[in-house]
Amino acid sequence: RHLAELVTRAAARTPDHPAIVDVAGGTTLTWADVDAATVAEVVRLRGAGVGPGDRVAVRLANGAPFCIAVLGALRADAVAVPIGPIAVPRELDIVFADCSPTVVVTSPDDADAAGCAATSGATLIGPPDLTARVAEGESVTHGVGAEDVALLVYTSGTTGTPRGVRLSHRALLANRAQAAELRPAPVTPVDRVLLSLPLFHVFGLAAGFLQVCWAGATAVLTERFDPEHTAEVLVEQRVSGVAGVPSMFRSLLDLPAADLRAATADLRMCTSGGAPLPARWLADFRAATGLWIFEGYGLTEGGPVITTNGVGGVAKPGSVGRALPGIELRLVDGEGRPIDTEDPDDDELDAVSDPSHDTGLVAVRGPNLFSGYWPDGAGGPDDDGWFRTADVGFLDADGDLHLVDRSSDLVIVNGFNVYPREVERVLAELDGVADAAVVGVPDDRTGEAVKAVLVRSAGSSLTEEEVRAHCAVRLARFKTPSVIAFVEDLPRTPTGKVARRRLAQVSGEGS
Ligand code: ATP
Repeated sequence: RHLAELVTRAAARTPDHPAIVDVAGGTTLTWADVDAATVAEVVRLRGAGVGPGDRVAVRLANGAPFCIAVLGALRADAVAVPIGPIAVPRELDIVFADCSPTVVVTSPDDADAAGCAATSGATLIGPPDLTARVAEGESVTHGVGAEDVALLVYTSGTTGTPRGVRLSHRALLANRAQAAELRPAPVTPVDRVLLSLPLFHVFGLAAGFLQVCWAGATAVLTERFDPEHTAEVLVEQRVSGVAGVPSMFRSLLDLPAADLRAATADLRMCTSGGAPLPARWLADFRAATGLWIFEGYGLTEGGPVITTNGVGGVAKPGSVGRALPGIELRLVDGEGRPIDTEDPDDDELDAVSDPSHDTGLVAVRGPNLFSGYWPDGAGGPDDDGWFRTADVGFLDADGDLHLVDRSSDLVIVNGFNVYPREVERVLAELDGVADAAVVGVPDDRTGEAVKAVLVRSAGSSLTEEEVRAHCAVRLARFKTPSVIAFVEDLPRTPTGKVARRRLAQVSGEGS
């Protein structure tokens, strides 16, 4: 009923089991420690004026203090608002003005937050003291109900202004329960799960950390992700599960083969989400380690996990798999009407080269869904409980979901629809391409044109002409990139998504 119960449950069952290994901070907390530090944090927050329903913004790097601050806010019946340490003053101003936090928990040298908090009237407090304990019997009651907002998570705003997604205790607990029913289970009590994903994002925080809390397992937290450091942590911490974004798994492939094998020896479960996992990266990772990467699909509004691959232990490349138990999926048109799969014309969003599939916007129904956007709950599921995403997809004969693209990323060339991901997939098949992204750029003649930004594989001297020749026989003319740039690395958000707005500006060699 209340997320704080996940901690009390784990602390009651296995008080001495490690809960959080904070690699950068050099600390390990047991479940009993997490429980006690959280209670102390409740007392501190109340002392700072936090009452039920008040917003507590938490702007700390990945680590134990972040987790205790969030759990403390939840247990104080407040609304935790995770904020990236990398958010700039303009973004802080937007978020603070929108949700008017009572307190902001941040590091003492955070001048940006200090300035923005002063403008919005919030009180700034430092990170929680992990060793703080309060007298026995300190009362911690749960005055809020399952429908009350637990987390307010701002979307990254890749498609516009960040919006505050209201996630209730009910939604977040439902999604943990749905994930826990999967077999193989994403997290079991004996697992040690590496979370290098930013915890201010719903993937790291809910699908990662709260799932660990649900199972009473161990979260291994690092502040950064680079292949060498991660390989060390995997070995030293005997990590058994990794939740990551595709670019993390790809960068692990840069390690010498023997090092990668050794580093992944204890690994049982790799899950990826947030952005498409190219089939080649999946195949290369499996060849190098013997492990599947189970790709899932989620979004902040879904709490976040909607579908996953690998139920039964085998991944289907190219698909994001099935809906979690208790979640319904259907495809709808722009007005929210279910797509008529019998009618060949009812396919307005179709731009995939395979015409045998009916594409539509993915709509979702389930107890894991958000309760609309902050402040008033506007934009939430409709009266029948359905929420229409901005993702275009299709269901294959097995009922597995394939994502085509985000409707907002559609490029229109001379009136023809081009979904960047179809072109990206074709580019990724070309030898010498390590990574590829496609975006629309303005064009005087055709309205928009397709621009491809490519990263060459190590040692490759791939040319623009070779890229054009490869595309010419695989894509219709209007889908073929007319602008090609080579870069060292694609610009990505901290959550692994290609930063499309920045991509349009990339000039790089070859453009
Ligand atoms: P905004 O909505 O403000 O642009 P955002 O994109 O960061 O912010 P998130 O909730 O973080 O919002 O991301 C959810 C989106 O990520 C999904 O709607 C989908 O487009 C994309 N996504 C998630 N998983 C996958 C996947 N496995 N393959 C492809 N895309 C995915």
